[in-house]
Amino acid sequence: RIAYVNGEYVEHAKAGVHIEDRGYQFADGVYEVCEVWQGKLVDGPRHLDRLERSLRELRIDMPMSRAALTFVMKEVIRRNLVRHGLVYMQVTRGVARRDHFFPLQPVAPSLVITSKSTNPRAGDKQAETGIAVVSHPENRWPRVDIKTVGLLPNVLAKQHAREQGAKEAWYVDANGYVTEGGSTNAWIVTKDGVLVTRPAESGILKGITRAVVLDLVAREGIRFEERAFSLEEAFEAREAFVTAASTLVMPVVQLDGRPIGNGHPGSIATRLRQEFHTASHLEEIR
Ligand code: PLP
Repeated sequence: RIAYVNGEYVEHAKAGVHIEDRGYQFADGVYEVCEVWQGKLVDGPRHLDRLERSLRELRIDMPMSRAALTFVMKEVIRRNLVRHGLVYMQVTRGVARRDHFFPLQPVAPSLVITSKSTNPRAGDKQAETGIAVVSHPENRWPRVDIKTVGLLPNVLAKQHAREQGAKEAWYVDANGYVTEGGSTNAWIVTKDGVLVTRPAESGILKGITRAVVLDLVAREGIRFEERAFSLEEAFEAREAFVTAASTLVMPVVQLDGRPIGNGHPGSIATRLRQEFHTASHLEEIR
């Protein structure tokens, strides 16, 4: 396997960054995960838009132009012979002697890009049974709209979920409303058949998969409300699912040990999952 690290394509097993990289010292950096489908980047431009925004919010420079980033992502995919899988891209503020302040002498941001192959059938198998989630108190900083590599709360919440036999944790804010998953956006279909997901304005990362699914929902004329939903409402839901570039649309069949709906993947989740790759959002695959 090959990884791209600061200007070079290197053997993945030997790839590394400096011990004083601010990503390593302070989690001072951001990342993106982009799906690869049939050898092509899925929604590449939208991921680059979000990367640029995350970097701007942290006042880190783009490590190279969008065109160059796209080229390197495609080159990493090509060199690793990835047909289906994921590309991971990380940009940190760079390498400098450890000090909380931004480096006085500006340093070049660090850029790492890796890819991995995944078996799309494995995801489909999982989607046929659905996943369990467990609720978890929201304990992240308020700027979850920035896709930073500072993911310790997410790591702990997801590990907690796994130890409960679940695949994902759903954060619940102080008012009892679900924000999102540890690495996914959260959706329910209410008992009245209305699809609901939380607005992107507060408490969540604005998922690219979420945006694509919103386009599908509009196109299909599915009844939909963008509003916060409570954990109580989720227990009563007819169906539920999560979205992320790594899982696409994944049905949720259990919440805190209780079945959602009839305990099987719901029809809306199943339909949206099926339509995901045929949707016109595949700018580069059309
Ligand atoms: N929310 C969080 C906290 C995430 O980490 C992710 C993805 O990793 C998402 C939502 C889903 O975003 P996307 O659909 O862009 O993968």
